[in-house]
Amino acid sequence: MPHPPFHCPNCRRALSLNGQTITCSSCGERYTVDNDIPQLIARRFLDPFKKTEQHFHDELSISASTGSIAGRSSAFHRHFKRPMLNLPPGSSVLEVACGTRVDGIEIALAGKDVTSLDISSAAIKHAQSLVKRTGVGAHLRLAVADGEHLPFADASFAATFTAASFHHFPHQRAALEEMKRVTKPNGYVIWGVEPQAWPYQTLYKLLAPVKAYIRRRRQRQHNSIADDTTTGYTEAQLRQLFRQVGLDILELQPVKFLSEVYDSGVRMASRLAGREFRPWTPLDRTLARIDAILERLPLVRKLFWHWNVISRVPG
Ligand SMILES: [Zn+2]
Repeated sequence: MPHPPFHCPNCRRALSLNGQTITCSSCGERYTVDNDIPQLIARRFLDPFKKTEQHFHDELSISASTGSIAGRSSAFHRHFKRPMLNLPPGSSVLEVACGTRVDGIEIALAGKDVTSLDISSAAIKHAQSLVKRTGVGAHLRLAVADGEHLPFADASFAATFTAASFHHFPHQRAALEEMKRVTKPNGYVIWGVEPQAWPYQTLYKLLAPVKAYIRRRRQRQHNSIADDTTTGYTEAQLRQLFRQVGLDILELQPVKFLSEVYDSGVRMASRLAGREFRPWTPLDRTLARIDAILERLPLVRKLFWHWNVISRVPG
């Protein structure tokens, strides 16, 4: 099956892509195609928050390594990807806010037709080189787009997902509604590895001076407003949000406990040392296995660091 066609995010009419500029025949909004990648953001939706996120991720992409898919926490990415890997071949899947390490590659390699989007054109350009190396070919296409104004018709995809990115969206409910809009009835809407609330109320406050120190040394031009203002999600908040949007939660899974401690340690050491250390895979896998056991203990479960949410659009 071909990929669902792109629609104008401004007026939602179908766009025909040919050449380097696209003008919507209905509303007149103009888009460009840069290096085979359509840039489908309507100007009126780019507020200062999104522009800062865009610049922050552009800057982040320049220093990103060209490593592997979902570099960190791949075990937990496997959990939320499972329903999509099990879809029939040729199913259309949408990845929102893919960043530089495209989770959709694994799904495309399993024979689904994946579209991966990000608001940062630098991140997408970086992702393009990773995608090319995998040989996934036409099963994966990339575009620059705003996750709150998806360039597709209603009910275009069998599944829509986002990984470790949703807390970067300024209008959370509208963004989730948009993911639901482009997903078919009975299709999946999936969030992978979104932050739990508890560390924001405790640990991160204690670590604020360390963060400030790292920032001063790093002297990045832009910082993420979202990373600075998010407070994570409690189970009750998540259940309420998905219910308000009209999505049925199939699985609400706390993910990463010991593995996050290890992972964060490696990340912080990298930042302090100014060079990238990689987690040691055998240890990472062992900790993931221990986490899978700990997750069954009700009290410990509350102390996990992230959530995976697998939900479905009612039929
Ligand atoms: Zn239009």
